[in-house]
Amino acid sequence: MIISNLRYYHIVTFGCQMNKADSERMAGILEDMGFQWTDVLDQANLILYNTCTIRDSAEQKVYSYLGKQAKRKHKDPSLILAVAGCVAQQEGEKILRRIPELDLVMGPQHVNYLGDLLEQVLKGNQIVATEPIHIIEDITKPRRASKITAWVNIIYGCNERCSYCVVPSVRGLEQSRTPEDICSEIKLLEQQGYKEVTLLGQNIDAYGRDLPGTTETGRNQYTFTDLLYRIHEVSNIKRIRFATSHPRYFTERLISACHELPNICEHFHIPFQSGDNDILKKMKRGYTHQRYRQLIDKVRYYMPNASITADAIVGFPGETEQQFENTLKLVEDIGFDQLNTAAYSPRPGTPAATWSEQVDDDIKSDRLQRLNHLVGQKAAENSRKYLGEIEEILVEQENPKENNQVMGRTRKNRLTFFQGNIDDLRGELVKVKITEARPFSLTGKILK
Ligand code: SF4
Repeated sequence: MIISNLRYYHIVTFGCQMNKADSERMAGILEDMGFQWTDVLDQANLILYNTCTIRDSAEQKVYSYLGKQAKRKHKDPSLILAVAGCVAQQEGEKILRRIPELDLVMGPQHVNYLGDLLEQVLKGNQIVATEPIHIIEDITKPRRASKITAWVNIIYGCNERCSYCVVPSVRGLEQSRTPEDICSEIKLLEQQGYKEVTLLGQNIDAYGRDLPGTTETGRNQYTFTDLLYRIHEVSNIKRIRFATSHPRYFTERLISACHELPNICEHFHIPFQSGDNDILKKMKRGYTHQRYRQLIDKVRYYMPNASITADAIVGFPGETEQQFENTLKLVEDIGFDQLNTAAYSPRPGTPAATWSEQVDDDIKSDRLQRLNHLVGQKAAENSRKYLGEIEEILVEQENPKENNQVMGRTRKNRLTFFQGNIDDLRGELVKVKITEARPFSLTGKILK
């Protein structure tokens, strides 16, 4: 359906890269329908909240934003209010009871059906779309936030059952896109001038195991490693990244492919969550800290200077001081380039949320602080290694704090600033000599 008179939309996005990529696809669908983006929330005729349930604060924020707009709808009944994403999936019709002004509640599997769902809304229906569904191929053109770097979903959902995580219940079972569709999207991005693609999946290394076909050796025909080779065959996009990896599926074949294929960036995000085996078992992660360490050794054997980042949770139910110290020890030993840390927060519908041995908030925040302190030290040590080095930077934008500077990233994903004019440099890959190092960013001088 094409909207005849000009209508504005605004999307508020919470959460991870996956949600941001979903929002870009939904924006593409809305623009195909004739909606136009506005930055001004109160000017929008359609507001879509793409929600996240990983942290309680994000969930609470959604309700507070929605409350304000629900009041506006009383004055302007033509305003369309929609909630998408993980809170929508988890709460379903319950959100309507709390906020009856909503027109549309839709789970992440329904993103590519947004046009059809809105058609029903425009006919005056109130819609809840949260049932499991086969994700149709993304035929829309996402409205991408950047003209230089792009996200490409390769697998949706997750078949793991980590005891703290809501993703499997809100995003459903794994559904891999076909290699043909992924490669066509990447070729198109290359033609449009994109320089970097990040392949996305909740458990990206599981890619392909739901696709039909096996090889003579009994291996899945399309593993994630095969996909990386295929992408290199059909395109020469300069930088390829991927997230999120699961330590259990990160094979030596994959590591060797990353080493061999020139466009794969030497940056790997491999969450470990805890450095203690009993906690890992309760988390149902399916590996030990020894296995994790061996995996990192293997990555460093092939690529000694690879950047390693990860996610970790402190204060998981029952975590003792000693178990927390095992996490500190792992961080100390591995020396991550960056670590996303979080205090455990019980999520409804997950097994760990029902356990009685919840850790006190003040203990959690003390552990989080101690971990973050160590993370900062390790990141600073890693940053100092760049001093005097010449790095390839992909220039993305102007430094918002200093407009005579531009900013971009190294292949290893370190944010880097240097003097230059954004109009000349946007989207360029340039050589920069690093002159200053901070824990999570660098400053340098462009080489002519
Ligand atoms: S692998 Fe990741 S997305 Fe899947 S259940 Fe575990 S934490 Fe959640």
